[in-house]
Amino acid sequence: MSPLLDVRDLAKTFTVSGGIGGEPATVHAVDGVSFAIARGETLGLVGESGCGKSTVGKMIVRLLEPSAGRILLEGTDITHASYGAMRPLRRRLQMIFQDPYGSLDPRQRAEDIVAEPLIVHGGYDAGARRARVAELFERVGLRADQLRNVPSKFSGGQRQRLAIARALALNPPLIIADEPVSALDVSIQAQVVNLMSDIQRELGLAYLFIAHDLGIVQHISDRVAVMYLGRIVEIGQTRALFASPRHPYTRALMDAVPRPDPARRHQRARIPRGEVPSPLDPPSGCSFHPRCPLATERCRVERPQLRVVGSGAEAACHNVE
Ligand code: SF4
Repeated sequence: MSPLLDVRDLAKTFTVSGGIGGEPATVHAVDGVSFAIARGETLGLVGESGCGKSTVGKMIVRLLEPSAGRILLEGTDITHASYGAMRPLRRRLQMIFQDPYGSLDPRQRAEDIVAEPLIVHGGYDAGARRARVAELFERVGLRADQLRNVPSKFSGGQRQRLAIARALALNPPLIIADEPVSALDVSIQAQVVNLMSDIQRELGLAYLFIAHDLGIVQHISDRVAVMYLGRIVEIGQTRALFASPRHPYTRALMDAVPRPDPARRHQRARIPRGEVPSPLDPPSGCSFHPRCPLATERCRVERPQLRVVGSGAEAACHNVE
């Protein structure tokens, strides 16, 4: 049986000004990314700002046109699907954005925001629509007396609950969640992640959960893929990846997550000072080599490919035994 989502060698390049001598330059924002998501599974896609993870999400929902590669949703190739061809597939694939305020029409009442997909995709008369909206409100923890409020009357966490209700309206088997809790207070983040986790268990849907915080994806993901400068550098089962991270970048990212056991923290490599290199001028060889404490001469000249390094785990590093 084909996976729910199959992404193969996906790439996105942008042409920008600012190259040598002011010439246009090509940025490889996403460079050969492959993964699959099974029904009911959550894949966490994690990395620092600018690593290309949100660009991957936007290509999957067709907000951005891929430059190369393939995207298969339930076996159907949607890589270059037109707006019209995507319309029926919106029932199968929804997205939640980082900024719930920006993604919700500020003039629309909450009940109309949640009802919109039901109207666009049909199949519900007015009574069934009201009942479905009320059911979704309850499911995401919003109150019936908030149905007629506009988004500005909701807190940040409540607005994200509203966005989740709208994404769930058509019962999609897959939701792309792009930094869904990053804009929220820390105290609210866990509530929204727990809500998404409960909904997943109940409805059996799958998430691509995009975040820059490994601590957040750990709680909701079955597997985790770590991105650096447009490429996946490690992918594996969450438990194994957290217990034994293979790639130096994954280890360094983990080191940035607060941990109760200080002794364990000191065993881990730290990200050396310095910014993520510009994708306009990526380093040769392994793009992590300027920041990697384990870099060797080989790393400076030869780009490591993703390879199996353990049970269900893959990493792109020359020095993973
Ligand atoms: Fe570090 Fe070399 Fe591995 Fe890259 S290939 S992560 S530079 S050890």
